[in-house]
Amino acid sequence: MGVHRFRTSAVGPAGELRTVPHWINGAVVSSGDPADADTLEIINPRTNEVVGHSTAGTAEHVATAVGAAAAAQKSWARESALVRSEKLIRLAQLIVENAADLAAWEAEETGKPAGGALVEIKAAAQYFSYYGGMVPALMGETIDMGGGYHSYTRREAYGVVGVITPWNAPLNQAARAAAPALAVGNAVVIKPSEFTPTTTFQLGVLAQQAGLPDGLLNIVSGSGPAVGEAIVTHRTVSKVAFTGSVRTGQAIGALAAQRILPLSLELGGKSANIVFADADLAKAATIAARGFLGNSGQACSAGTRILVQRAVHDEFVELLLAAVGKFAAEHDMGPLTTRAQFRKVREILETAGQHGAQQHVVPLAAEGSGGLFVSPTVFTGVDNTMPIARDEVFGPVGVVIPFEDEAEAIEIANDSDFGLAGAVWTRDLDRAHRVAREIESGQVYINTYLGPTIDLPFGGYKMSGYGREKGFEALTQYTHTKAIAVELAAGVPGGE
Ligand code: NDP
Repeated sequence: MGVHRFRTSAVGPAGELRTVPHWINGAVVSSGDPADADTLEIINPRTNEVVGHSTAGTAEHVATAVGAAAAAQKSWARESALVRSEKLIRLAQLIVENAADLAAWEAEETGKPAGGALVEIKAAAQYFSYYGGMVPALMGETIDMGGGYHSYTRREAYGVVGVITPWNAPLNQAARAAAPALAVGNAVVIKPSEFTPTTTFQLGVLAQQAGLPDGLLNIVSGSGPAVGEAIVTHRTVSKVAFTGSVRTGQAIGALAAQRILPLSLELGGKSANIVFADADLAKAATIAARGFLGNSGQACSAGTRILVQRAVHDEFVELLLAAVGKFAAEHDMGPLTTRAQFRKVREILETAGQHGAQQHVVPLAAEGSGGLFVSPTVFTGVDNTMPIARDEVFGPVGVVIPFEDEAEAIEIANDSDFGLAGAVWTRDLDRAHRVAREIESGQVYINTYLGPTIDLPFGGYKMSGYGREKGFEALTQYTHTKAIAVELAAGVPGGE
């Protein structure tokens, strides 16, 4: 099968100045002159130079997209699961065939290394093959209410699902929500981050090529207050999946409460990576470094609080600093993606030392080049009450916090507003499972720290959000369960 080129000239290849339009009802829609709106600039964070603009969408664009979605959704939901499955698997194939172009756009807009961008694009494709393959196995149940009834459940689509995504893994996060939502029969309207819209726009183009009906998947570009809020408040949108900051999650939650709109909120984290003295310390240090440096720390599940048993604290810190240095030397550590994020992380780093922690920096050659690079940084001598131990940084920054015993490790791990991920390192199997059970977070790894997966349910406790993405569970999150009961007329005793 040959490489499938995009059939739209609306967006040029990476490297060419571009204006990213909307994709509504199976067509390119442009609006206004985004060159005038500097808030909608797209930059390449490696150079800090403008590479394009995203079109400033409005509530009218959202209304048109939602209308098209609602019109397409009913017949899509009536298709058999096998028909929906085939089309989503075709979309997965098209993403793979176009992965090089998609990765080039994504690398340019996020600053990710090309290899890392390609891995994420291929994982985006896997969401469509995974949920496409799985949806025919989603079934209702029969419920035994005695001989007088026939009772069963049906899984029914919500209707139009809104998806609001951030800039740290753009196509991947769009696919993570859109794939299960579409698989079970919903239509989708996505608002990508205004800083990284290109690959999500192209997802709309590819969906059409895969045979999805026009209007079923719409992409409206623009700012959060203009487009995101219009999605959340549109009365026809019946579920919203949001990934991003706690602050925006709270704002969306307040709006959603007005009309009892179901949400899934995937927010921040400050995940604890707990290292006991009996662990394989060298391995734990290597993986711990990867756990907060991957994607330059711009990952909600990053293991940024490294809890180390006091007996091995100094030895472990030495191993960790060496592992951080090795990671920085061996990997292309990309910049932070947005100027605002860069400023935020720099400010945090400038003030963190005031609370008494020691700062260890592994200087990146690229820092100071004009791109938004931040050197990997580890803080030691950290107390769990310090701001650097409590606030999400979303940059290549980890803290080391000592603990005495298992009880204290659990107490510190859970003394956080967040609860997204976490890990336990120990050779003691009983302790590993005991601690994993006690940690208040949606994922816990034992003797590893996983990067993003597709098949494990993923979501938060506490202020890390609610609802679950990924895994089989995500399919159920995009459906209502309807219970149907039929009263059966009494049969003739002894009759046929
Ligand atoms: P935001 O939460 O502001 O952005 C996430 C998405 O929400 C973007 O598409 C944004 O649009 C949109 N949005 C913003 N305001 C609204 C609104 N009022 N209504 C609806 N949608 C809205 O994240 P930031 O970019 O400001 O990042 C700030 C912090 O958030 C980071 O430092 C990090 O701590 C955390 N974060 C967490 C992520 C995660 O994966 N959980 C991902 C990214 C950030 P737009 O930006 O285009 O205006």
